[in-house]
Amino acid sequence: MTLKLTRRFICQLFVRRFASNNSSITPIDPNKDLTIKKPSEISTKKRAFTLINPQTVHQIKRIDDVPIQNEMDFIRHRLTEKRVKNIPIETDILIIGGAIKGSAIAFFLKQRAPDLKVTILERDWNYTTSSTVLSAGGLRQQFALEENIQMSIYGAEFLKHIRDHLSILDNDPVPVSFHHNGYLLCGSEKSVKLFEENYQTQTSLGAKLKLLTPNMLKKQFPWLNTDGIEIGCFGIQNEGWLDPWALLTAFRQKALSLGVLYLNAELVGFDKVKRVWADGTIENQLDKALILSAEDNRIYPMDTTFVINAAGPWAGEVAKMAGIGVSDQYPVALPVEPR
Ligand SMILES: Cc1cc2nc3c(=O)[nH]c(=O)nc-3n(C[C@H](O)[C@H](O)[C@H](O)COP(=O)(O)OP(=O)(O)OC[C@H]3O[C@@H](n4cnc5c(N)ncnc54)[C@H](O)[C@@H]3O)c2cc1C
Repeated sequence: MTLKLTRRFICQLFVRRFASNNSSITPIDPNKDLTIKKPSEISTKKRAFTLINPQTVHQIKRIDDVPIQNEMDFIRHRLTEKRVKNIPIETDILIIGGAIKGSAIAFFLKQRAPDLKVTILERDWNYTTSSTVLSAGGLRQQFALEENIQMSIYGAEFLKHIRDHLSILDNDPVPVSFHHNGYLLCGSEKSVKLFEENYQTQTSLGAKLKLLTPNMLKKQFPWLNTDGIEIGCFGIQNEGWLDPWALLTAFRQKALSLGVLYLNAELVGFDKVKRVWADGTIENQLDKALILSAEDNRIYPMDTTFVINAAGPWAGEVAKMAGIGVSDQYPVALPVEPR
């Protein structure tokens, strides 16, 4: 059950298998056309770089006034092999985004596989624009989709036993201030059938809810104007709100204590390799992740076996960097973008 939910938890994220490659970085020619028609002309390895985050390029251009004309200039200017102390050459799992999902995924992974090398990239250590800290921190079971309902019930159980999950040694985790209070959803005549169907699904999965007629609503919530309301549904258990910053801190601290490496850095692209298979098929494979370190503003290549995209509203951009939605190989884009 837990495993299933964990898998669900990351279902909106993409996980890509990477080709492992130990070769060093070679200079790149931005003008070179890497689309070569005849397979015989293609060596087994040709490198190209993808950088799709013009916003970042401009920010950096402003900061140190480097004459950067385009993304390739940016990569060439910044690419380095000299390591700053804390950036590893390789990792097993690279998680992009260190807010609630990235940190929770890292925690669950390390809990199940303590030897796994898990690295998280988070470009904004103040989380100023992360949905996590902007959110209301509300938890409800009233959804239509089974997976959402199950995730919420699991979330409520997790919070009830948060000490067991997120304590570090004998210290309690940061208090997340969970405040029990049911959600009240109301509907007009048109919605009655839908409310009843959802109620069946929700309660069959273990949600504790109560369906209310207009009279019951008036009695329980005397301040409510029930004109036009035909049905209500109220959460009796497992609904309420918490402090999202505190929950993020609790997950981060626990993940750190399990050996997860958090880097104040940004994924800016991937090193790509063209491979020719025996049947002549040419495939663009991702090789190294290119990581812009906030410590020295340089780009470091990193080998990784898996990448987990937990970049929240920027998940679409990260997917694009991996060629998703921009290449013939993966033509369908991840439909996520910041508003
Ligand atoms: C106003 C608001 C209210 C909400 N209310 C609720 C609620 O009541 N209940 C509820 O359950 N949900 C709510 N949500 C939704 C919830 O906040 C999000 O689903 C959740 O926080 C998403 O977490 P995340 O870790 O996926 O994304 P985020 O918290 O957005 O984190 C993504 C992180 O990725 C980092 N990042 C992005 N790109 C890169 C890159 N290239 N390299 C390195 N780092 C990168 C960003 O800096 C960011 O920290 C609300 C959301 C908003 C905006």
